Amino acid sequence: MRVVVVGAGFAGLRAAADLRAAGADVVLVEGGTRPGGRVRTVHSAFQSGQYSESGAEWVDSIHERLLAELDRLGIRILGSGEQWTDIRRWMHREGRLLTPQQVREADPDLDRQFDEFDRIVEDAAAGVVDAASPHLHPAAVSIDARSVADVIAEAGLGALARIFKYRDSQGEFASEPSQVSLLFLAQQRAHQRDASGGRHIIARRVEGGFSRVAECLAAELGDVVQYGEHFVGVSQDADGVTVHTDQRTLAADHLVLACSFVPLRRATFHDPLPPVLRDAIHQLGYGTVTKTCVQWSERQWPEGYATTDGRAQRVYEPSVDQPGPAGILTAYCGGDGGREWATLPEAERVTQIAQEMRSMHGITADVLGSYSRAWNTEPRYGGSYAVYEPGQVHRFWAAVREPWGRVHFAGEHVATCTGYMEGALESGETVASRIVAAG
Ligand SMILES: Cc1cc2nc3c(=O)[nH]c(=O)nc-3n(C[C@H](O)[C@H](O)[C@H](O)COP(=O)(O)OP(=O)(O)OC[C@H]3O[C@@H](n4cnc5c(N)ncnc54)[C@H](O)[C@@H]3O)c2cc1C
Repeated sequence: MRVVVVGAGFAGLRAAADLRAAGADVVLVEGGTRPGGRVRTVHSAFQSGQYSESGAEWVDSIHERLLAELDRLGIRILGSGEQWTDIRRWMHREGRLLTPQQVREADPDLDRQFDEFDRIVEDAAAGVVDAASPHLHPAAVSIDARSVADVIAEAGLGALARIFKYRDSQGEFASEPSQVSLLFLAQQRAHQRDASGGRHIIARRVEGGFSRVAECLAAELGDVVQYGEHFVGVSQDADGVTVHTDQRTLAADHLVLACSFVPLRRATFHDPLPPVLRDAIHQLGYGTVTKTCVQWSERQWPEGYATTDGRAQRVYEPSVDQPGPAGILTAYCGGDGGREWATLPEAERVTQIAQEMRSMHGITADVLGSYSRAWNTEPRYGGSYAVYEPGQVHRFWAAVREPWGRVHFAGEHVATCTGYMEGALESGETVASRIVAAG
């Protein structure tokens, strides 16, 4: 059996490895010059061996496939990790850095408002019996029609609570609350509920960065991976697929499209796509993240995440587990804010973010290095990760998880653990086992 896989992100790498292990003849075409896709650790921008992740940064304690890979590859998980709470650590508001205690003093009703928000989401999640099938929720259509912005309004959140919930949406979904389906949020909660068994979820980084994982997986595949080759179109019939790249035509039994839907909007599907699948490819939401990282000669900031009412949105140190006096601060900007930053040249983003970091923390240290990556400006991604917008879970969820004849879709956007490296691995595993079963 011959299979062409498109994309050397975690989904494509896992699909290719599983297919090879089952005896298939696999060709993996990757448009870029490196494996990993949205996993991309940056070392070159910084001094003293420090690094930060321009894409995926955390492995959660419920991400079993990824944890197993880290263990198998001998890649060490760092530190005690983060447990995401409503307030996290600091709030920078109207020019002042507030502790959680001061935040609660500013609005003594804050926890009740967060509880009310959670109650509405948990009610919706209770109907998601199987996180792999949120579209089967008995009230799927009406819950899917509502957005996270509707929940914020219904929960009656005050100004301070709204900042936190907007930052959550811009960070977790890289989208404004009005662009996130309540059913999608409920699905994610249901998945976390089921996978954690009620235990706290801890998020941690890895030593040297996640690009190491991609490099190891690609090395195991050897010359199966062809870099600098773009998928441009496909046709299929009862006997197989004909895959067109910008360099050649490949005949195979199956095609796995393990890349985001945004680049597929430019591809040619020579046979008519089913209407729902065509709409999903063209309309599925993608969030935006612009990550800007600045290395400072001294760590002149307190430990822990800071949420800000400013344009930097969330500021934290990705280098906490890295030695030396210097340290890196990241501004993680999603949604409309991320998109606005993306319109500026990289150097201008760095200058303005560094200035905001200085005024937040009173930093006087020197800037040693920096970079900024706006994922929506990169054509092979077109965004940071998928977000099912209002109305999209019940319309698209099942359709994009089914094969279209001999063409299979993989990637974080078709997983149960949507938006994560774990989801990418999960989807690669799923399509590989389906293809092997089909023969
Ligand atoms: C800023 C940011 C922060 C994140 N944080 C986290 C986190 O903390 N934890 C976590 O688990 N996940 C995180 N993620 C999500 C995670 O990175 C993704 O879910 C995952 O890496 C997606 O893998 P994938 O294989 O589905 O797709 P990709 O990684 O996008 O891989 C697809 C590959 O296909 C290639 N490609 C595209 N079009 C073509 C074409 N036409 N021809 C050939 N090749 C093509 C691309 O170059 C790419 O290499 C983050 C993502 C971003 C952007």
